Amino acid sequence: MTKEKKKKETLNPFEIAQRQLDVCAEIIDLEPNIHAMLRVPMREFHLSLSVRMDDGSAKIFRGFRVQYNDARGPTKGGIRFHPEETIDTVRALAAWMTWKCAVVDIPLGGAKGGVICNPKKMSQSEIERLSRAYIGGISQVIGPDKDIPAPDVYTNPQIMAWMMDEYAKIVGGNPFGVITGKPLSLGGSAGRGDATARGGWYTMREAAKQCNLKLENATVAIQGYGNAGYYAALLGKTLFGCKIVAVSDTKGGIINKTGLDPQAVYEHKVQTGSVVNFSGSESISNQEILELPVDILWPAALESVITEENAPGVKAKIVAEAANGPTTPEADEILYKNGVHVIPDFLCNAGGVTVSYFEMVQNMYMYYWDEDDVHRQLDKKMTAAYHSVLNCSRKYEINMRQAAYVVAVQRVAEAMRLRGWV
Ligand code: GLU
Repeated sequence: MTKEKKKKETLNPFEIAQRQLDVCAEIIDLEPNIHAMLRVPMREFHLSLSVRMDDGSAKIFRGFRVQYNDARGPTKGGIRFHPEETIDTVRALAAWMTWKCAVVDIPLGGAKGGVICNPKKMSQSEIERLSRAYIGGISQVIGPDKDIPAPDVYTNPQIMAWMMDEYAKIVGGNPFGVITGKPLSLGGSAGRGDATARGGWYTMREAAKQCNLKLENATVAIQGYGNAGYYAALLGKTLFGCKIVAVSDTKGGIINKTGLDPQAVYEHKVQTGSVVNFSGSESISNQEILELPVDILWPAALESVITEENAPGVKAKIVAEAANGPTTPEADEILYKNGVHVIPDFLCNAGGVTVSYFEMVQNMYMYYWDEDDVHRQLDKKMTAAYHSVLNCSRKYEINMRQAAYVVAVQRVAEAMRLRGWV
């Protein structure tokens, strides 16, 4: 042992994304030119947005749109409104969108957008003006056949409606397919609301078979209670009869070993702004929730929450990454060594963008599917993707994340070769 203090692991999401790609490049012996191109975004836009606030003042917001790679089709990815947004977070999320669309084999590339702001401290009309300003800033570079935004952390269908409307005002007509995750009455798709969690549960159903885990009464902990976390809880209980024992949000967590009622917890959160103090539950921290003795753990909030420090304490048999980038590379190794089956982020949470793709298709056709059709098509995509990743992990004897990278990067690389880019 050297006396030197061990260098702390990086929590920079883009450095993590690049490292994950580097490992994959080595496994598949990727051509250096393709590797170099895939390490960085093809295009990125940095915006300065002036927005009129309710008190009459103007405030300047920083915004980003990163179009990572469009070899397989128009770029696709959500827009995040977050006070801690950084360009490197957006770059990482855009890279992961590229792998996500490829792993579920939908004909899209990857992108991501973000604005540094705190929507929790803004009025609805301020959020509307910011949303419109953001679209004004990128209107030339998005479009149904160029780049298609969608919701992400702290953005929602109403914001997508304003954004689509702003784009329509600029280009004319009703170009619904420019944005997905829209409200149902405005060209949204049935089944888009719970698609991220539902897709994750379809992969979980397959993973449970591999791990000989019976889902009925299996215990579940969920970190995060936004769109992904809430629906992960609700669908875990209603579709598979799991017991949701603990959930959390930014303000803290709650636990009830006999099981929580996900819908009642959601209503409590709507009323009070948080899951904490839900009746019949005890408090628990956001850290503790990751190390509970449960069968299934869903990190469903932000990046880099499972690190080399807490990974040894993770006791779940299966970790389903509904969040993007919740596990650091160091933590990945620890989980793998400890026999934890990880359903990696861009596979586990690909249900959202898959139904977004269905939404684009329906917008183009001007014909809308019913919810059963969406669920059936989503199940097909998620199940096929899970098994191609599982097979790849067995073939190369690598962990599920590395296998997901191998499947996705090979597809993107093939498109780049065929287009003659490299
Ligand atoms: N923001 C979601 C994600 O990270 C959805 C993206 C989309 O629907 O385009 O996958």
